[in-house]
Amino acid sequence: MTDASFPRPARRFETVGFSEIVRVRNRVMELLAAGQKVWRFEGGEPWMNTPEPVKAAMGAALERNQTRYAPSSGIPELRQAILAKVRQQNGIPCDDENVIVVNGGMQGLFAAFATLLDPGDEVLMFSPYWTPIMDLIAYHQAKAVLVPTDAARREGLAKTLARLTTSRTKVLYWNCPSNPTGDVFSRGEVEEVAEFARRSNLAVISDEAYEDLIYEGDSNVAIASLPGMHERTITAFTLSKSYSMTGWRLGYVIAPARYQSAVKTVVLYSTNGVSTPTQWAAVEALTRGTEFVAGWKAGYRSRRDRLVAGLKAAGFGIETPRAALYLFAKLPPWLGTDSREAARTLLDEAKIATVPGVVFGPEGEGHLRFSFSVSDETIAGGVEALAAFAGQGASRR
Ligand code: PMP
Repeated sequence: MTDASFPRPARRFETVGFSEIVRVRNRVMELLAAGQKVWRFEGGEPWMNTPEPVKAAMGAALERNQTRYAPSSGIPELRQAILAKVRQQNGIPCDDENVIVVNGGMQGLFAAFATLLDPGDEVLMFSPYWTPIMDLIAYHQAKAVLVPTDAARREGLAKTLARLTTSRTKVLYWNCPSNPTGDVFSRGEVEEVAEFARRSNLAVISDEAYEDLIYEGDSNVAIASLPGMHERTITAFTLSKSYSMTGWRLGYVIAPARYQSAVKTVVLYSTNGVSTPTQWAAVEALTRGTEFVAGWKAGYRSRRDRLVAGLKAAGFGIETPRAALYLFAKLPPWLGTDSREAARTLLDEAKIATVPGVVFGPEGEGHLRFSFSVSDETIAGGVEALAAFAGQGASRR
């Protein structure tokens, strides 16, 4: 029977893509299945194990039979722990009812875009950007308007945003620290963007997934902490990166009163909340987990620095990023300028897996993303393989 004999999936899926990172991973799997050794830098998650006390807290919740439906927006104990953290660490002037527990940063972001976007609305987002955001915007039949980050920093952030704003612009997506670049906007820059959002009456969706992974300098400025910003900002936080809990699917949203009921509705009718024992583990992470993150940072920093040195030696252009888990490195001349081709060459010929920069928007072309959240063995082996391959590349020129 032909496809025409069946009802088709909703049209909105026609514009939603599937992550190219998955394509890279599939090719890596093929090579591994063929018995090849691959130096894997394409990933996007912390490399440590979840801290033992967090795991034990879930076990204890199971022992206590805390296995039944919880309130859809989260158990009171977790919402209280989140409220204390968000007020103290982030300085967001919120209340208990502004806190909504969700299934990871992704569900928080989905709920935020669903809350704010009507078809045809425009969303300003800095580029390079984290790829799934483009698809979330497409899913809601809205339009992403890219703000080239480097050029905007040179020309002035507010000036550039003003040039790209139209009568349809409703939302600014803000991701700081950034995936894929590891950049952190300065307090002055955050203030300039916040002032622009207030003046232009924009809502802000702030994605602060990497807030705890900053290795030098000032900590992150939550845009919702600035005057008048909590009222127009939905912030998506996650435990995934901070506590090495990517598989637990635990995040939280801070939404002002005017948006919180829509966010809660999305959660209610999609997942009706987060698994109850997982929420008990999250209480432990938020109340006693910070020491683990602090302990991991030295390791991340040293792996970052070793990989930066290896990439520079192979001719890549890179400034050491201050945050997150990634190096966004400019291709050396011997690898050309096409990032998809360069990533394919490195994978097939040197068995080094990376993500092509163009996946993160046109501003990412000419770059590759390397994760430094990998084992010491991978850093050492990958750098060695890269040096050997770069030597051949240089002689091919
Ligand atoms: N935002 C950014 C910028 C990310 O890189 C990620 C994870 N890669 C997320 C949000 C979502 O994280 P999670 O759903 O695992 O909490």
